[in-house]
Amino acid sequence: MEKNKAIVLYVPVVHQGYVDFLNLFADEQTIVYLLDGESLAVSFPDINYLIRDLRAVDTNFIKASLQLMFKKIEFRSLSGKYISLPIQTAMAGAVEIIMPNDDVSDVLLSKVPGLLSKTTLLPFSLRWDKNQTLLQKEIDVDTIHFDDFPKNVFEALKKQVNKSVDWWRQVGCVIYNDYGDILLASYNKHYPNDLSLNIFGDPRFNFKPGEHIEYCSAIHSEAWAIARAAKEGIALKRFNILVSDFPCPTCAKLLSETGIKNLTFVQGYSVVDGKETLESKGVTIKKLIFE
Ligand SMILES: [Zn+2]
Repeated sequence: MEKNKAIVLYVPVVHQGYVDFLNLFADEQTIVYLLDGESLAVSFPDINYLIRDLRAVDTNFIKASLQLMFKKIEFRSLSGKYISLPIQTAMAGAVEIIMPNDDVSDVLLSKVPGLLSKTTLLPFSLRWDKNQTLLQKEIDVDTIHFDDFPKNVFEALKKQVNKSVDWWRQVGCVIYNDYGDILLASYNKHYPNDLSLNIFGDPRFNFKPGEHIEYCSAIHSEAWAIARAAKEGIALKRFNILVSDFPCPTCAKLLSETGIKNLTFVQGYSVVDGKETLESKGVTIKKLIFE
């Protein structure tokens, strides 16, 4: 009789995350269907970027290596220009389907008939899939109370934020020393000047949030402050920064290389690896709280 639980998985490379995921089913009578990345990319335009994953190993090699590790599990591979059909056929007899909660699963559930009602998505981070990349992660760090924070620095931040003409969002930062002396303060500025938005419109109107972030006429406040420090020949090493919003991944990388030692933020989320990048370079992160 056909085994009735099916795991559907795209595995570009075998790593511990996939081993942990499959270990959940190692003792069961399970069939794991391995999806071919190229077939997925060709069949579904929404995830055609999978074809650019240079790490991706041929599905048959993945299948052979996983089979060696998991003797009880039966691995089958699914491929084809119209992979929707083999998936649909393979899943027809399954009572329960399990997939990791990622971009491939999203597409399959919306495009392949018959999957939605019997699929369970498991929250497992197995790769930087599109969902993971856009995920806004709560930043779990120590807090500093407003009463213990230099008031002049916070007031300077408020002034900067209000100067921003960015419809996207008003963001500012202040760089200061341990005595609360302010070195630089800035907000996200537009180029060639702040009025260009009013004259030419905003190129960002053409895109959804998070899409084509490079098509933006603004410089982020942190990047501006770092560039200005370079112009003035000021080393930011051992200074502190207060930001209204948690830095984007690019600014987090820039800041992490300046030697800034403390970053305090008022609001926001860490996306991609912003928090990890800063912490890896010894930056202490704190959230400013008001209550
Ligand atoms: Zn930024």
